[in-house]
Amino acid sequence: MWDALWRNGRVATMTAGAPFGLIEAGAVAAEGGRIAWVGAESALPAGSATAARTVHDLGGRLLTPGLVDPHNHAVYYGDALADFELLTQGGSRADMIASGGGVGGLVRQTRAASDEQIHAVSAARVAKLIAAGMTTLESKSGAGLDLDTELRCLRIGRELGRTLPVRIVTTFLGAHGIAPEYRGRPDDYVDHLCKVVLPAAVAQGLVDQVDGFCDPTGFSHAQITRLFEVARANGLPVKLHAEQYRDFGAADLVARFKGLSADHLEFAGEATIRAMAAADTVATLLPGAHWTMGETQRPPVALFRRHGVKMALATNCNPVSSHTCSPTMMMNMACRLFGLDHRGGPAGLHPPRRQGPGRPRLARDPRGRQAGRLRDLGCRQAGRAGLPHRGQSLPRGGPGRPAGLPRGPHFVSTLAGAGLP
Ligand SMILES: [Zn+2]
Repeated sequence: MWDALWRNGRVATMTAGAPFGLIEAGAVAAEGGRIAWVGAESALPAGSATAARTVHDLGGRLLTPGLVDPHNHAVYYGDALADFELLTQGGSRADMIASGGGVGGLVRQTRAASDEQIHAVSAARVAKLIAAGMTTLESKSGAGLDLDTELRCLRIGRELGRTLPVRIVTTFLGAHGIAPEYRGRPDDYVDHLCKVVLPAAVAQGLVDQVDGFCDPTGFSHAQITRLFEVARANGLPVKLHAEQYRDFGAADLVARFKGLSADHLEFAGEATIRAMAAADTVATLLPGAHWTMGETQRPPVALFRRHGVKMALATNCNPVSSHTCSPTMMMNMACRLFGLDHRGGPAGLHPPRRQGPGRPRLARDPRGRQAGRLRDLGCRQAGRAGLPHRGQSLPRGGPGRPAGLPRGPHFVSTLAGAGLP
């Protein structure tokens, strides 16, 4: 007998054979905290529909694997309205930085905020992400760039993961930009990160992985290498903001460390992509930043495919370059801007295992049934279509769970009839 059975749902298994692996009038059964059966209701074994300990009616909702957001800056305080204004007036990223905006503006506002203020606005963002389908997300630091604020942001990320129905992986991004008090002294700043800030964060158990911005306007190969060596000495996996504005060999560097992912990648060249393939480093694509920053060079999706590099999508939730908590909008944009199709778009937010904790894709077990972790199911209320061709998910209310779904993070969001924000 199964522990639980969900009936009368539309089940997106993300497997081959039909768009989204969609099973109309589908059912999912769970046993011992794992998915025990997935299929059409008409294929349910005789008597099983009433034999489960609990039976839930999904009322036509769409049931999907939970979404994973592998690039997310949700913990910060403030806004970037002046940056956006500047961009709309024809300004560039360099203009934004010269005027004290970008990461600098974010740092100023976040440092000045209390823990309570940062927590409140960040929790509201994470609640939106949960309502839109996230069951696992990353929370980067990088909005403080000093010891106190970096630790505060990591601590708040951890706390959100404990108190909200979502798994949160925290990432140390002290090398997001050069802290204002170290302006013109990047080596000294990296020294400070390596000797003081990262060790303190590790000692307090606040870090799962380490990230940086490797670019002529950020940190050099040598500086990032120093940081990565400290990460490696502490057993932490690494990733990078790479090749967003030029081919700088940043993804090669992360591949040398067998890193989890290189992110952005509009300018990644073929040699870089080969290195990523050899290291099994995932390409995380960020259409929100591509759009907001007015970039014209698309990430080389065809080359990623040709060389077998796994691709993932993320919201890159941040106020400067990707002011969104909408995974479905990112799927839509990845399809329309980057040429991913309905498999690549939605599947990108169910990223490959290398992205770290959380592997929500329903994997086929040897008996031909679908097996996966029960906590990674998400359910959303939708009309005929709830995935990216409908565009936008607009949560109408906070995170919730449909009646009957058991332990673990689940979500309900209203897609049907939702307009653009
Ligand atoms: Zn980022």
